[in-house]
Amino acid sequence: MIPKATPANVAPIPPGCAGPAIPADKGYFVEEIRDGVYWVTEGVFQAMFLTTGEGVVAIDAPPTIGDNYLKAVAEVTDEPVTHVVYSHSHSDHIGTASLFPSNATYIASEDTAAILRRINDPRRPVPTRTFKDRDTLTVGDQTLILENKGPDHEPGNIYIHAPNQKILMKVDVFTPGWVPFKDLSHVKDMPGYIQAHDDALAYDFDVLVAGHVARLGTREDVERQREFILDLKALATEAIETVDIQRIFDESGVADQSRPGVGNPWLLFDVYLNTVAGQCAHAMLAKWSGRLGGADVFMFDHALVMAESLRLDYGFLPRF
Ligand SMILES: [Zn+2]
Repeated sequence: MIPKATPANVAPIPPGCAGPAIPADKGYFVEEIRDGVYWVTEGVFQAMFLTTGEGVVAIDAPPTIGDNYLKAVAEVTDEPVTHVVYSHSHSDHIGTASLFPSNATYIASEDTAAILRRINDPRRPVPTRTFKDRDTLTVGDQTLILENKGPDHEPGNIYIHAPNQKILMKVDVFTPGWVPFKDLSHVKDMPGYIQAHDDALAYDFDVLVAGHVARLGTREDVERQREFILDLKALATEAIETVDIQRIFDESGVADQSRPGVGNPWLLFDVYLNTVAGQCAHAMLAKWSGRLGGADVFMFDHALVMAESLRLDYGFLPRF
């Protein structure tokens, strides 16, 4: 096991993580990225919107930004919000979508629409326009390409590409300047999540709106995270291939016949998985400490979900 990060021992935040200052009187920051595409943030979550000459296209509606979203839009245009695009179904990113006009067109992938129909949350109106793989949204003088390339962070989590502005929005996969959020940002499909790094880089973009954290991203941020995730996969593989499960059982005492825990398979697996994840996390920290924020906070969790994915998705077997 590696030491748990606490307020007393956590590593300093490395350079390159900071975003713009959030005006204290407003509680949000809004800025035009390029040619009618704006981003709005309260410092941790990010949403994007476009002015089109015929109405605003709003993408996502995080509750932490809340009503300030409407103030941000009103700062830059008199156009009403006519279209709302959901990046994916999660409430922390679209949980106040109902603040937009009910007669707006709500757009999402079929996968996201299916999830929202099942959850039936009035704060996340069910989409009125859906697509399976690809949709081209043209409103006024703006165009967005919406693509669902399969499950990653969540089924239905789409790429939102503004080709004319070379801006890509892809939420909850990339965290510019930081390691991913806990458990690889609660990844639902590991092979799809790893593939997403290559899929993102195939787009023509130089600005990334990642949904988090404090600043916008770049191609270099995606490339760095790709290197991180491939390192994590390689070092978790190495840990599975080198940790001797029988030796772990003997050394830890979980197979000791004189103890009450003997024969408890959950305890056996817990000891084994913690050993694999600990070895992987230790090797990862040797490479990544100081390069990405939060490495010491979430590395063990990342190693654990990767090790379990290698066992369950990729078919690696414990070494006996
Ligand atoms: Zn999410």
